[in-house]
Amino acid sequence: MRILVTGGAGFLGSHLCERLLGENHEVICMDNLFTGRKHNISPLLDNARFEFIRHDVVDSFKVEVDQIYNLACPASPVHYQHNPIKTIKTSVMGAINCLGLAKRVGARVLQASTSEIYGDPALHPQPESYWGNVNPIGIRSCYDEGKRCAETLFFDYHRQNRVDIRVMRIFNTYGPRMDPIDGRVVSNFICQALRGDDITIYGDGKQTRSFCYVDDLIEGMMRLMNTEGLTGPVNIGNPGEFTMLELAEKVIEITGSKSKLIFQDLPSDDPKQRRPDIALAKEKLGWEPQIKLEEGLKRTISFFEKIV
Ligand code: NAD
Ligand code: UDP
Repeated sequence: MRILVTGGAGFLGSHLCERLLGENHEVICMDNLFTGRKHNISPLLDNARFEFIRHDVVDSFKVEVDQIYNLACPASPVHYQHNPIKTIKTSVMGAINCLGLAKRVGARVLQASTSEIYGDPALHPQPESYWGNVNPIGIRSCYDEGKRCAETLFFDYHRQNRVDIRVMRIFNTYGPRMDPIDGRVVSNFICQALRGDDITIYGDGKQTRSFCYVDDLIEGMMRLMNTEGLTGPVNIGNPGEFTMLELAEKVIEITGSKSKLIFQDLPSDDPKQRRPDIALAKEKLGWEPQIKLEEGLKRTISFFEKIV
């Protein structure tokens, strides 16, 4: 198949492009390189089945493809809050442009949605049927509400124009090729531990997240795209739930670092807990994560050891 990956030069996108090429597809990677990096895809550039297009998804585009994975959007709070108006335009206009293209060329289109749909969840763990608890006017809203509007657009194009959609709700994912300076917790803690710097815990560190290793995530994404008769939304994430204090302790233990923990202010609207209910993914996709946090952290730490 010929497949378009928007945001293909980013962390998840570059892993996806690599997997798709490994399955002999033709891959068009479209990215404006806002948070993505050319070196994430440089090993792919020699492949005759790979093409990179520098383009902003806010502006319309035309390519003949069979499938579209829409990943274009900054994902870390630091980056998506840098230019919040642009973030919401990227989610909303990017979704409209992908859906319009899918409608024109008859392609199937998958949206990289997010656990942020659930906001600061009052229901725990979060099933897909939960509508969420989202602040519409806070500093995270450009991302949360942009992604929620994109989901609405996906389902409206599906109902109104019969576009073949897949909506995937991604929970916190980590692994090699995370950007060391985008402020996400796993990359922050690992870089701080490797440098011997203080480890920055925001708030009391008792808030929880559930971390999925990138290879598991990409497997779930491709299964969802290629499963017939299932629009989603489907949660894809690892139900193993940890506090940020537990994560910091694990990173210190694996790296053997002498770093100390320091406590800083909790950013506003930071969700207190997050854990996916993955019953639907298990039932419909036969998917569940294989890589435990300890193993995934070891692989991620060996990536960061080469670059910090
Ligand atoms: P990332 O920042 O590494 O990748 C995003 C990519 O999109 C980058 O290459 C960036 O340059 C590109 N991009 C941003 N704005 C664009 C625009 N206007 N036009 C074209 N390209 C643009 O982030 P990631 O972690 O790889 O996330 C990929 C997708 O998955 C995002 O949509 C994100 O919201 C979603 N997601 C990720 C996570 C996670 O834990 N990594 C969790 C939930 C959802
Ligand atoms: N966090 C932290 N120290 C850091 C970076 C993040 O304690 O150096 C916390 C952050 O407040 C949040 C959690 O780790 O509670 C996950 O943050 P991240 O930005 O990785 O993802 P998100 O909040 O979008 O789930």
